[in-house]
Amino acid sequence: MNASGDAGRLRSVDEHLAGILGEIPPLPTLDLALLEAEGTILAEPVTAPVALPPFDNSAMDGYAVVAADVAGASADVPVTLSVIGDVAAGDTGMSAIRPGLCTRIMTGAPMPAGADAVVPVEWTDGGTVSVRIGRPAEPGHFIRRAGEDVAAGQVVLQPGVRLRAPQIGMLAAVGRARVNVRPRPRVVVLSTGDELVEPGSSLAPGQIWDSNSYMLTSAVNEAGGDGFRQSALSDAPEKVLESLEDQLVRADAIITTGGVSMGARDVVKEALTGTLTFSKVAMRPGKPQGFGLLRGVPIFTLPGNPVSAYVSFQVFVRPALRAMQGLPARPLESRTVTLTDDVRSPAGLRHYLRGRLSSGPDGVAVTPAEAQGSHQMAALASADALIVIPEEADFVPAGSRVAVLRLPR
Ligand code: AMP
Ligand code: MG
Repeated sequence: MNASGDAGRLRSVDEHLAGILGEIPPLPTLDLALLEAEGTILAEPVTAPVALPPFDNSAMDGYAVVAADVAGASADVPVTLSVIGDVAAGDTGMSAIRPGLCTRIMTGAPMPAGADAVVPVEWTDGGTVSVRIGRPAEPGHFIRRAGEDVAAGQVVLQPGVRLRAPQIGMLAAVGRARVNVRPRPRVVVLSTGDELVEPGSSLAPGQIWDSNSYMLTSAVNEAGGDGFRQSALSDAPEKVLESLEDQLVRADAIITTGGVSMGARDVVKEALTGTLTFSKVAMRPGKPQGFGLLRGVPIFTLPGNPVSAYVSFQVFVRPALRAMQGLPARPLESRTVTLTDDVRSPAGLRHYLRGRLSSGPDGVAVTPAEAQGSHQMAALASADALIVIPEEADFVPAGSRVAVLRLPR
């Protein structure tokens, strides 16, 4: 028996998630131009067609010399060499040098044939016709060798990596203009409720500002998707269905909030019963859940209370968005920490409490927020973790070790 007395009719969190993941294949891969691929997941191994650097080049602005010429150089007895030219980055066809000669050379410029060291300009008088060099340089000094970054044919990026700035840079560095990726899932976010008005406009009695659609659009983006927020729908079932149909063309998934519990205006449930499956999941917050495919597009109908909607997103939608990106459908990063206060929990439900982490001499601890109502956004907005109290526990004393899910930072 659980607190609500209906244990028999509840689906476990794991069952509900498994049901969702069973319906969600990875998105097909796409070839994208590099900057369009930002934040997507690489779907191919990327190899370097040539070595990097492709040629021996100078690591400094200075002089390309024969190391043996400057072996005896010192501040008191500098060595003087004739400067036969300049080599800048991008130059080709520069002359070779031989003993007694050198060229000025710039960072990234190819080493002239015959030179085997670079003397930085700081060790010289900076001469342009002849140069006085006041320190010896070992052979190989300040030369960046061909292939010392990447060998020709080397795999530089493996499939499954998210393309952030360094990976985009790597792709460009091996000459790639386009790349095969799993795209960011396009997710339409729709809230429902006659009481909802746009932030920025004024509230009439009985109204509240729509926070879910903003919060979840942002959560989609955080999870690697592309969120498209729609303005809230009124509580009219035919509107809900029509709006969902309208969005199908551009959506890889749709998230709705509200209208799925037991009220008289549970329009989402009304509009989609028969198409989606509506379940009661053994969790708090977030018990009423709906999921299914509408013409192949996954639709998540999350409960309306903002904290419920957020927790539902993290527990069910985020793993699904990862699966669409071809990633392991992991939940948020989990760790075990010490609970600072006693917690009561409804037996039979997995309880996700909002908490704050702190580190002390005994390691990391978590303190549950005082306000644990599913409408209490302020506690969520100042939380950095969800404390997970398992189904079988109804009381967890202070000092216990508990699992927490770290909220994205
Ligand atoms: P519902 O599931 O539609 O009955 O909504 C449950 C509660 O969540 C009600 O108090 C709603 O006013 C509130 N709620 C629903 N949708 C939103 C939203 N988009 N933003 C803020 N609160 C909401
Ligand atoms: Mg509603």
